[in-house]
Amino acid sequence: MAVPKRKTSPSKRNMRRSHHALKPVNYQECPNCGELRLPHNLCGKCGHYNGREILPVEA
Ligand SMILES: [Zn+2]
Repeated sequence: MAVPKRKTSPSKRNMRRSHHALKPVNYQECPNCGELRLPHNLCGKCGHYNGREILPVEA
């Protein structure tokens, strides 16, 4: 098995990890009920998508 010749320096290790940060979740308001939902996803509260009710919400 191939094995690294040198220990990775803290600088190189941190450069590698510079891409690891999590981005904040991109919530947007539902145009029908104002609830926060993910873009291109059905609203979990009112069941609307693209101006129509797709999934009837149980009372
Ligand atoms: Zn909604």
